[in-house]
Amino acid sequence: MTDSVKYVLDERDIPRHWYNIVADLPVPPPPVLHPGTHQPVTPDDLAPIFPMAVIEQEVSREREIEIPGPVRDIYRQWRPSPLYRARRLEKMLDTPARIYYKYEGVSPAGSHKPNTAIAQAFYNKQEGIKRITTETGAGQWGSALSIAGAFFGLEIEVFMVKVSFQQKPYRRSFMETFGATCIASPSDLTAAGRAVLAEHPDSTGSLGIAISEAVERAVQRDDTKYALGSVLNHVMLHQTVIGLEAMKQFDLAGDYPDVVIAPTGGGSNFAGITFPFLGEQLRGGRKIELIAVEPSACPSLTRGRYAYDFGDTAHLTPLVKMHTLGSTYMPPGFHAGGLRYHGMAPLVSQVTDLGLVNPRAYQQVQCFEAGLQFAKAEGIIPAPEANHGVRAAIDEALRCKEEGVSRAILFNLCGHGNFDMQAYRDYLDGKLMDLEYDDGEIAMALAGLPSVA
Ligand SMILES: *Cc1c(COP(=O)(O)O)cnc(C)c1O
Repeated sequence: MTDSVKYVLDERDIPRHWYNIVADLPVPPPPVLHPGTHQPVTPDDLAPIFPMAVIEQEVSREREIEIPGPVRDIYRQWRPSPLYRARRLEKMLDTPARIYYKYEGVSPAGSHKPNTAIAQAFYNKQEGIKRITTETGAGQWGSALSIAGAFFGLEIEVFMVKVSFQQKPYRRSFMETFGATCIASPSDLTAAGRAVLAEHPDSTGSLGIAISEAVERAVQRDDTKYALGSVLNHVMLHQTVIGLEAMKQFDLAGDYPDVVIAPTGGGSNFAGITFPFLGEQLRGGRKIELIAVEPSACPSLTRGRYAYDFGDTAHLTPLVKMHTLGSTYMPPGFHAGGLRYHGMAPLVSQVTDLGLVNPRAYQQVQCFEAGLQFAKAEGIIPAPEANHGVRAAIDEALRCKEEGVSRAILFNLCGHGNFDMQAYRDYLDGKLMDLEYDDGEIAMALAGLPSVA
């Protein structure tokens, strides 16, 4: 057989529970600390920002957490997402490897983000909240939350990193189509934004700044909460529908992955596809290799420090222990905007620190090369972020060829690139450059880490 194969599940196979890896970790996660007192935060500390149901999930140690009916009903629109065996890509690479990919681009937003946006909007609505503020880098998270807001009748206010706001005008149109408001960050709507603009009037923004603005707006009003599209435990939890479905699809295929690969920005699509498999391993099941792929220009897992840090630039968020480049680090403007965050999810950081993950970093040009190769074989144009996973999957498949071994490689095709044609234009015109992080800048940002006893 040379054509690619799709493993389809029935709607009834949409998982009824999310999987919480905290239940299976050999050591409990380090506590989240209050930014002022450095004492572990209490649910009351987080209540101005998040709905209680989300806070409970954030600290839960239950292995399985039920997916509410209304959330599952919406998931049904695009879930279960397909798992493909990429036979045409295998043939193109002439590899003995078995390459599989889980395709999250079938969601209405075109990425995995709605898996958590729908859940978070549901819990906010249930607790009587009227408005949610958030930030977005490349625009995927803002798009997903805008759809969720329209479904649940919630006002959505999105602070979009200014460089993306300017580079990707259609993202704003997308969000506003669903009734959301999209503001370029830094803005003069918030004290955090005004402080940045006073010092750097030409600032093109960063996720850290946009988070500060969104949090500031949320704490000002009782009917408003804040939502984060990655990094936090409850986001990792919601994304595990990806891996739980993939396990059932591997049953159908009569196979099991030897290696699971995903790009890592804040860590949520990586956690989503890998944690259910990792959980099985931690409970005594088969050992698998996990590869987290990040951009060389924002290398938190491979170059950052595993330490307590703030999630934002203005230091309004609690302190979490994570791989970080320092909350003031400004990554250069490469095209995978969804991967431009200074930190990494605490849970992904912890399992990496435990030696359960092999992180690696790639430059953007080699990722686009892989993306074009994949597109020609499989007919789907990956998001620039997803190209990092594609690159690693192709490299692993080529290694199998060299070594003459057949391994099953699974990667998360976490989004399509149909909104990212400017990035592809730049690549096709030979204008895409590899960008290095600046050692000095990372050292400076790391020197500013909070000291936690
Ligand atoms: C947001 C996004 C990412 C990065 O976020 P994670 O939390 O690391 O998944 C990667 N790919 C796509 C397509 C995204 O939308």
